[in-house]
Formats: sequence, C-alpha cells, structure tokens
Amino acid sequence: MVFQHLHFDDHERVVFVRDADSGLKAIIAVHNTVLGPTIGGCRVRAYGSDDEALTDVLKLSRGMTYKAAMADLPFGGAKSVILCDPKKKTREMLLAMGRAINQLGGLYTTAEDMGMDEDDLRAMRRATPHVTGLPEDGLGVSPGPLTALGVYHGLRAAARHRLGKNSLADVHVAVQGAGHVGGPLIERLVRDGARITVADMDRALVERMQQAHGAAVVEPDAIYDVAADIFAPCAIGGTLNAGTVPRLKAKVVAGSANNQLGDDDAGRLMVERGILYAPDYVINAGGLIKVSLDVMALRHGRCLDREAVEHRVTRIEDRTAELFSLAEKRGLRPEDAADTMARERIARGKQAWAA
Ligand code: NAD
Repeated sequence: MVFQHLHFDDHERVVFVRDADSGLKAIIAVHNTVLGPTIGGCRVRAYGSDDEALTDVLKLSRGMTYKAAMADLPFGGAKSVILCDPKKKTREMLLAMGRAINQLGGLYTTAEDMGMDEDDLRAMRRATPHVTGLPEDGLGVSPGPLTALGVYHGLRAAARHRLGKNSLADVHVAVQGAGHVGGPLIERLVRDGARITVADMDRALVERMQQAHGAAVVEPDAIYDVAADIFAPCAIGGTLNAGTVPRLKAKVVAGSANNQLGDDDAGRLMVERGILYAPDYVINAGGLIKVSLDVMALRHGRCLDREAVEHRVTRIEDRTAELFSLAEKRGLRPEDAADTMARERIARGKQAWAA
C-alpha cells in the first residue's frame, strides 16, 4: 500500500502506468506542487522488484522538491521511472509514457535521467510537449557544464567556511569521476590554480585530465585516501559511507553526485571527523536551474539568455554559505539544515497560497 510505504511523504500523486501493447510499466510520482508545477527526470532501470522502483521514485521525487525549493525556482518536485532494462526499451514504450505524462496536463514536465538519452526524449515529445532538457531547447547547451558551475560555487563557499580560503589557488581537490560534470569542474578549478587528483573507471577520461590539466591520477578505490583538502564526488551516489568516510583526509566534501550519503552513519561520521559536507542537492542544482528556465522561457515565448542562467547558478555560492551559517546557528548537520530550509520555503509558499 503506497500510503503506508516507508518513503511516502505526502506525495500529491503517485500514478502507476501500464500499457499492455508496448509492455510499458512505469510510475510517476508528483511529490509537491506548492511552489509550482513539477520537473524531474525519467529513469529507465531494470529494478529487482516493483517495490524497489516505488522506493526509488518516491525518494527521488521528494529530493526534486527540495532541490527546486533551495534553488529558488517556482517549481515543485516529481520523478518518473520506467521498469525496464534500458537496452530493451522501445519507441512504443516511450510514446506510451509520453501519453501518460500528457494526461497530467503540464503538472509534470519530464527530462533525461539514467537509462535515457536525448533521442528517447525526442520520442516522448511526439506524444507530449511536457519534455525539457533537449539541446534544441533554450540555450542549446547540455546541463553538465552548468551543474559544474554550481558545484564550483558551492565548493568555494565550503572552502571559505571550513578552510578559511577565499581563493582556490593551491587548494588540493580529489575528484571522483571526470564525466559531464567532473570534467568541466576540473577545468574551472585548475583555472583558479587548484591542484587536482582524479579517478575514473574510464582510463581515456583520466588521461585527458592528466594531459589537459596536469591532474594526478589514482585508481578508483584510492581516491578516498588522497591527502587532499577537498573531496569532490562526481561519479555515482552512495560513495560516502561508514567504510569510506574514515579514510578521507579532506576537510570538505563538495561534489555533484546525487544521494552521496550512502548510509545513516556518513553524515554523523563527517561531523565527528571535522569534515564539512556541502549537501548534494543544494550545490548540484545548476542543471535543474537551466532546464527550469528553459521551461519558463518556452511558456512565455522568450529566448533564454545564457548570462542570466549563469548568474542564477552562481547564486548557489551565497545559498550554500547561508546554509552553513544556519546549520551552525541551529546546531544541525548541513544536510539536515538544507532539508529544514527547503521545508521552510515550501511552508512560506503554502502561506502565500492561503493568503
Ligand atoms: P557521467 O556519467 O558523465 O560521469 C560519471 C563518471 O563517473 C563517468 O566517467 C564514470 O566512468 C565515472 N565513475 C563511475 N563510477 C566510478 C567510480 N566508482 N569511481 C570513479 N569514477 C567512477 O555523469 P555526470 O553527468 O558527470 O554526473 C555525475 C554525477 O552527478 C551523477 O551522480 C549525476 O547523477 C550527478 N548529477 C549530474 C547532473 C548533470 O547535469 N549531468 C546534474 C545533477 C547531478
């Protein structure tokens, strides 16, 4: 029963989608629309069970609400999942998913997530206009570099707060993952004079970082042991846990990966070890800011201005600094302070509604 589910958080709608002809099985979770209609990616994954898929979509959609609220966007949070091996998804399934999204009448706009690519989004768009994040929309740029810009600013705020550094010159950053976000992040950090150690499963990527930016390279599992000032997880979720946090030498953790805290101990252990954690969804909102502004520009028939988007993303630095101050003032861990701030913003939105 959904209402009794551990991760049910007063989600406004949970839609179970079935299309027998195409074989589509999907779930759309609209978490909260207080601040506006929702945006959230569509993930395609071969889940081990229906409950695993439901857990994922309930948690991810709540995270989107908080991420949008903290980024000051007039949007709520939602997410959808298609229960299917990404290699086996078909155009018919994507069209059926597009029709299901269309029935929500704009309450939910979808975007790319794991297991989906741009052509899949284009296929969905044949059935619904409520699709965003394609290069042909708005600025014509992918979200990765804008996410990197936001992470860079969040990381600056954390370096100032914990290391007392106004500049990243000579600051040593260990970057886990050099993909669409990690790569452009390294480029920015090096421009500021930071020293980089990088690890990635993809040898070609790390060699590129070594040649282009003079980055030192370590094996993927060795990245936790690097004597760096800052650890930037930009690969997969869950890498901060009871096994990895005790190995960190860094005094700041700030990166792009979603859901970095792999277990309940991770946040507590970081506090005990004097490590300042910049909450993932606060500093990795650059891509969401970009697609949200795309949606708003399309709705109002305007073109998006790159400088305006970048300016919005750079504000992540002030927001992260504000969050650290609040966390200290209230004696909260940064991740708890972020949830508190997001909930307060939503509550204010509710009051404005009622007024
Ligand atoms: P990506 O797939 O382009 O890059 C991830 C990189 O991490 C890959 O090169 C991969 O080889 C590497 N990797 C995977 N496991 C690793 C491991 N154990 N150790 C070292 N490297 C490993 O993805 P991305 O778009 O750069 O996103 C990175 C993270 O940021 C993801 O968690 C993603 O959910 C999150 N994120 C991305 C965006 C965005 O705009 N792209 C926005 C918000 C959050």
